[in-house]
Amino acid sequence: MHKIVHKTLALFRMNVLILVLLVFTVAALLTHKYGLNSLYHINMASYPYIVPTSDSLDGGNSVVSLQKTDSSIIMDYELREGMPYPYAGLQIYLGDGKTQGKDLSVYDSVFLWIKPRGEGSVRLYLRGYDKDIYREGDLTSLKFNELEFFPLEESYPAAFVPQEFRVAGWWVAQNSVNVHKARVDISNVPLIEIQTGTGAPLGFGTFEIMGICFKGKMISELRLVSALIFAWFITFLIILVFRFMDYHRAQKVNKERQKELERNLAALEVVKNNYERESKTDPLTGCLNRAGFVDVLTREQERLNKHGIPVSFVIMDIDHFKDVNDTFGHNTGDEVLLNLSRLIQGKIRNTDALVRWGGEEFVVLCGDTPLQNAQFLAEKLRTAIESSVLIKQRQVTCSFGVAEMVPGEDPKNLFERADKALYASKEGGRNRVTSAAFRGGS
Ligand code: GH3
Ligand code: MG
Ligand code: MG
Repeated sequence: MHKIVHKTLALFRMNVLILVLLVFTVAALLTHKYGLNSLYHINMASYPYIVPTSDSLDGGNSVVSLQKTDSSIIMDYELREGMPYPYAGLQIYLGDGKTQGKDLSVYDSVFLWIKPRGEGSVRLYLRGYDKDIYREGDLTSLKFNELEFFPLEESYPAAFVPQEFRVAGWWVAQNSVNVHKARVDISNVPLIEIQTGTGAPLGFGTFEIMGICFKGKMISELRLVSALIFAWFITFLIILVFRFMDYHRAQKVNKERQKELERNLAALEVVKNNYERESKTDPLTGCLNRAGFVDVLTREQERLNKHGIPVSFVIMDIDHFKDVNDTFGHNTGDEVLLNLSRLIQGKIRNTDALVRWGGEEFVVLCGDTPLQNAQFLAEKLRTAIESSVLIKQRQVTCSFGVAEMVPGEDPKNLFERADKALYASKEGGRNRVTSAAFRGGS
């Protein structure tokens, strides 16, 4: 019972673990999909670090002016002849504006709220700092991560992904940038520029810019999935360890149980053996009883029938035993029985079996013994009894009947013949031996 509870608990614990993790995984994926946004928004109306820029910095003639409204910045410009590529724009400084900017690589989309009045395209530069390329005090050495587009009313605000940027080829050439450094890198952007596009017509123009926004996820999808895979891995590892521990414990319990069973079995075996022995021995004299006799008889019978080894049967009965009991008491009678059995036990071979046949009748089953030898043994026993003191009150004698088993004979027949012989001894005056004829009759 305790074990079942324990097992159920363990299973429950594991399932709860998996369930919790499953819920957590779904929650994490959903949260990631619909939430956990990370925003970087520059509101042009209020952002303080915005300055105008134009080709006049490089010796051109174009002019530009900035003016803030409640919700935007208005950039008025005039592109004038002078430089081969006249331009005007504005610069938005991030961080220290030189070497320390903003990591924009964590975002996966860029939105630009811009309304140009006039023709032409718009250029958006995310100027990247690279310590190997940067030259102190020279802002042109900041990488030109560039995007050029035509703002369309139907797609306002203009939206991009970082992959749509490229590095301006002229900048790569101008700065002799190593090819491995010539790819887009927006991990440190100190400066954002918004400019008139390539080949913008000369003359007046206006940009109204409301803001620029970078949108991304607080945790990248790759990171989230990696973390989840790791969590699942750890969970399965824990479950595996639990399983192993449970298995180990179960095995230990099983082993102990098996040992206990073996011990019980051994104890039972002893009890069984004792019981078997007791059931086949006579409690008073310790010699075989009739049940025990059956085993020996079967064995001897087989030896006779298979190999012709003779077997004889000596039956004896105490003379006037009733009188012993009546005169000296039952206990004295028992003493006679016990001493008699001891005496006989001492006189027979250990291949012979002494059986307490009935009340005061004993049988010696003599293996490998023909009638003559059994007769001799009976005579030997008779004289031994006659000449020994079984109880001091009275001389005890026995009468004997001897018979040899005929091969294939029914044992009942053998007992009968022996019994008849015994009866003859009694009739003949007791304390004597009578043999039954070998083949039937008396
Ligand atoms: P016989 O010479 O004709 O054999 O006379 P007997 O008195 O020995 O024969 P009987 O069969 O008349 O008596 C047998 C007696 O054996 C009867 C009973 O009192 C006694 N007896 C049988 N079993 C036991 C026993 O276990 N203990 C004792 N003390 N006496 C027993
Ligand atoms: Mg008797
Ligand atoms: Mg008797």
